[in-house]
Amino acid sequence: MSLQTIEINSAKITFDKEKTKTYRTEYNKPCDCQDCRNYYKNIENNVGLVNFLADFGVDYSRAEEIMPVDLGNEKESLINYSAYYCVVGSISKVISIKKEDFSVSFGVSSNINVGHEITDDYFFIVVDIDLPYILDEEREFPQLSFIEKCIDKFKLVFKRN
Ligand SMILES: [Zn+2]
Repeated sequence: MSLQTIEINSAKITFDKEKTKTYRTEYNKPCDCQDCRNYYKNIENNVGLVNFLADFGVDYSRAEEIMPVDLGNEKESLINYSAYYCVVGSISKVISIKKEDFSVSFGVSSNINVGHEITDDYFFIVVDIDLPYILDEEREFPQLSFIEKCIDKFKLVFKRN
């Protein structure tokens, strides 16, 4: 164990950088889906965020979970990402930090339900960021929700009459 403690916004954050670095599981294997690949590709150019995570021993491509929300379902619309990273250690309280081009919060398992295999004490770093679509392939859009489909059907019926 080589613990270090830092203080951010009056929260005490104690973590084991080396152990966090070597924490590898099926859960935090880089995901191959288009949403995740778009996230990694954006983040790899965000030196501030990559370094922020690396200071805790976190590899940006090793999130436990990445949740994308398409903010417009159009070619140019941004995608909001929440990415959950596990860190070996503990925090004295839940905090959020806003940087110039990303936001992160530090949370604990009691309010974040994400699969993991960590056996030591741990906390989450959650990245919250809006990103453009930058992959060199056709963008896939989420399926219309059931309700939207029903409304579309209703409109068709309505027009016909
Ligand atoms: Zn994915």
